[in-house]
Amino acid sequence: MHNFNAGPSILPREVFEEASRSVLDFNGTGLSILEIGHRTPLFQAVLDEAIALLREHMGLLPEQEVLFLHGGASTQFMQVPMNLLDETATAAYTDTGVWATKAIKEAKLFGGVDVVCSSKDSGYTYLPKEFTVDPSAAYLHFTTNNTIYGTQWQDLSFFYDKGVPLVADMSSDILSRRVDFTKYGLIYAGAQKNIGAAGVNVVVVNKEMLGKVSRPLPTMMDYRNHIENGSLLNTPPVFSIYVCLLTLRWLKKAGGIAAIEKENERKAGLLYDTIDALPLFKPRAAPEDRSRMNVCFTIEDPAVEAEFLALCKEEGMVGVKGHRLSGGFRASLYNALPYESVVALTELMRSFAQRKG
Ligand SMILES: *Cc1c(COP(=O)(O)O)cnc(C)c1O
Repeated sequence: MHNFNAGPSILPREVFEEASRSVLDFNGTGLSILEIGHRTPLFQAVLDEAIALLREHMGLLPEQEVLFLHGGASTQFMQVPMNLLDETATAAYTDTGVWATKAIKEAKLFGGVDVVCSSKDSGYTYLPKEFTVDPSAAYLHFTTNNTIYGTQWQDLSFFYDKGVPLVADMSSDILSRRVDFTKYGLIYAGAQKNIGAAGVNVVVVNKEMLGKVSRPLPTMMDYRNHIENGSLLNTPPVFSIYVCLLTLRWLKKAGGIAAIEKENERKAGLLYDTIDALPLFKPRAAPEDRSRMNVCFTIEDPAVEAEFLALCKEEGMVGVKGHRLSGGFRASLYNALPYESVVALTELMRSFAQRKG
């Protein structure tokens, strides 16, 4: 099978193997990873190593705390403004896709929201770059990679001189390319795209951002409580965190972010070159904003589109259908997807385009 799913998505084969062994016998303990207590030294070692590996991969500062939280990235749409945006303050948001829109909707529940730019009118096919941010904004929120529309900010340093703290939803491209993660006040990402299994999200928060809002915070929503309790405020998603650990170990063995970035460029390069070479297929995103993680394209004739989808299915290619909101095709090329899968897809595209004349 070639798995192009957008999330949950492909993970390395060795992660599946090690995780399944640990479901039966974790580290030779005679116990399943599914039945060990979260406050045991056994799980503490998993948590400590996962956090240490994330810190190492991302090159974080001591004041940046790593948390494993429940509720997926969607809960962060609400938890971020609850912790960082006072009722009388305003936060700046970029509107570059569905996930950004959802983040904006939640932020409005807590304070002022200034939508500084939007590419909604074009169907989110490009990233709007002409905008200013009020220096008094509590933070600037942006989505680094727009999973549904296949756009990705290429040069993130564009944001670094905006003069306000940065908050980024990195759900679909975290750990896929080198980023100066120290520039961020807060980063969040659902694990199910590049970090591990569904059921947990990673939050990296600079402690200096916290404690500045006047509203009382529910215990489980207050980042400070999770920091104080080392992500063990309540029962964490033990198995999901364990799968993150295995994936982070795999990434280290593969040479870390710098090495995987080269591989991701090679994969995306091959697919975009193929799309550009075959007039049957139309790229969806503006050339300068193309995502290396989610490659979106279309075929003009819906009948031919359906035919190609059926062919993909026959050839064991999973997850090539585009999101229901954007249609067409979407091939997600996350870290664990082998180059050979892209070769197989592009060969299929070539032979199909040839047959269609
Ligand atoms: C998938 C995704 C989300 C939603 O993640 P959940 O874990 O399902 O809440 C949010 N933002 C982006 C950019 C995503 O790709």
